[in-house]
Amino acid sequence: MIRTILLRLFSYKDSSTYRLLTVVLSIAAISTLAACKQHTDKRADRIVAVTIAPQRFFIEAIADSAVQVVPLVPAGSNPEEYDPSPSVMKQLADADAYFYIGGLGFEQRNLQAIRDNNPRLSIFEMGEALSHAAHEDHGEACTHDSHGHSGGHDPHYWTSIIGAKALGHAAYKALVELYPDQEHRWSEGYGRLEKRIDSVWAVIDNLFAGGRMDKAFVIYHPSLGYFAEEFGLRQIVIEQDGKEPSAAHLHQVIDQARADNVRIVFIQPEFETRQAEEVARAIGAEMIRINPLRGSWEEEILHIARSLVHGK
Ligand SMILES: [Zn+2]
Repeated sequence: MIRTILLRLFSYKDSSTYRLLTVVLSIAAISTLAACKQHTDKRADRIVAVTIAPQRFFIEAIADSAVQVVPLVPAGSNPEEYDPSPSVMKQLADADAYFYIGGLGFEQRNLQAIRDNNPRLSIFEMGEALSHAAHEDHGEACTHDSHGHSGGHDPHYWTSIIGAKALGHAAYKALVELYPDQEHRWSEGYGRLEKRIDSVWAVIDNLFAGGRMDKAFVIYHPSLGYFAEEFGLRQIVIEQDGKEPSAAHLHQVIDQARADNVRIVFIQPEFETRQAEEVARAIGAEMIRINPLRGSWEEEILHIARSLVHGK
């Protein structure tokens, strides 16, 4: 399991005292963070580009306003299919670095051109530790049936706790390499980010305590594979190899969802909802809109977790 390898990389604290403490601390942390959100930086003269908005969350959580973060894929666009206009590519000219996840369609198609056109741009792969762990885990070539990303493994690291920790750690290391004179600042910021992620984990752990959550869910695009693995859930995917499903595949999804007593069908704004509606109707499930591509990581992952407990 990828989980065992990742657990070795990023230690999980698991005593019940710790749990209680983190739940209490998380409430305190959230209010403190709200209070001291903006420090008094003027304009950021450090600019980094990223592929998608959730990456901005991790970098800003560490650097606050000391680094300006520019996502190349605009809100509402699908990073598997989106290709940048020349004006988007021009933003890279002002950036010191480009942080990519590794494995998103946008990156597979455009990384080489970004490298070639911006020879002085520093480039960091935020998902590197995770993709190594995944490869180690699977031995030979990954042939997941349904993650929908050609030529590799599931890149949706950010919708999981361990994935978030790994992306945060990669962002921290990259910031130290890029701006070593601010190392102390990045290190403090990274400490705060780790606490925030632990707090989110504690809240989810508490929500799911005693197995109160749904054990399986249906989703159009497979964005929650790591989340499902991390919390022992089954993700049933409508999309077929990154494309619209065949009628036969849709029937399989419906049968599987029935067998697993699925009550929730997750839909995402960047993707088709027609088939999701069909599945929801067939099994009498509720459709819930999620947006794993938006920048507010904490809110989004908690919304997903709560949907699996309070949905219906
Ligand atoms: Zn995706």
